[in-house]
Amino acid sequence: MGSVVISLDAELGWGFHDLVTPPAERVAAGRRGWSVMLELLEEFEVPATWAVVGHLMLDSCDGIHDDHPAPEGWFARERGEWADREDLRYGPDLVADVLAADADHEFASHTFSHVLFGRPETDRELAVAELERSREIADDWNRSIDTLVYPRNDVGHRDVLAEQGITAYRGRSPTRDGVRGLFDSTVRDRSMLVEPVVDEYGLVNVPASLFLFGFEGAARTVAESIWADPMVELARRGIDEAARTDGLFHMWLHPNNLTDERDDRRMRAILSYLDRQRAATDLRVETMADVADRVAPESGFSERATASWQ
Ligand SMILES: [Zn+2]
Ligand SMILES: [Zn+2]
Repeated sequence: MGSVVISLDAELGWGFHDLVTPPAERVAAGRRGWSVMLELLEEFEVPATWAVVGHLMLDSCDGIHDDHPAPEGWFARERGEWADREDLRYGPDLVADVLAADADHEFASHTFSHVLFGRPETDRELAVAELERSREIADDWNRSIDTLVYPRNDVGHRDVLAEQGITAYRGRSPTRDGVRGLFDSTVRDRSMLVEPVVDEYGLVNVPASLFLFGFEGAARTVAESIWADPMVELARRGIDEAARTDGLFHMWLHPNNLTDERDDRRMRAILSYLDRQRAATDLRVETMADVADRVAPESGFSERATASWQ
């Protein structure tokens, strides 16, 4: 029985706060994209893994974060240019919408403030603080964190994840995403399926298959005018492959990738195809936690059992 996983990196402004020039279109789309994705997933009854930046679950903050061991200036945009942009810094309303949805979404973490774990500047102390803070906030919301999605898929400090009781993370895609993948026949003919594995820390790596917005800009416009949306074609191929086999196809995106209606159409086309194939075959939709439970049932069980005693 094959399966499909969808994971979302839910971050509003935090996905871009460290960039010199944040992409204005995507910054502006954070809230709309979040709501559109949530509605589409409800419509097609598709559960997803929502990896949420912990800071979004706060109602307010001092902007200084003195007790957080981040590098100098890490919160500069939050207390400077975005000081009056609460819509980019907080989103408890949006997180509550995810938790209240009928689809059985997984609540997961995307760290506290979108720190890049694989960077040499990110020391152990910062990695621990990012996860501890996320867990404290999740605790206030009566939620535990079983899964981490690394900001920019920058894998690092996996030993810290294991210590912090995390069970699963999203590893990098084994194939090249985006425009090169589409036109490179060696990639085009390669499988879209991924193999979840237990790593040396006992964590389940649920690798990504396909970033659904890795093919954008002018190339997308040209390709769309010739064919149907080529990303929809790729996603359908992955879904078909999972339905035919007992493999896993793992798509991911940011809510802020849905910057306008053609992005919404892409997601609607993919989700409606997934819904149809699920009805017509043995294919199932899983969250990353479901995959981790299946691949390493004992670690998943002990985590959850521990969480419920606390
Ligand atoms: Zn803050
Ligand atoms: Zn991110």
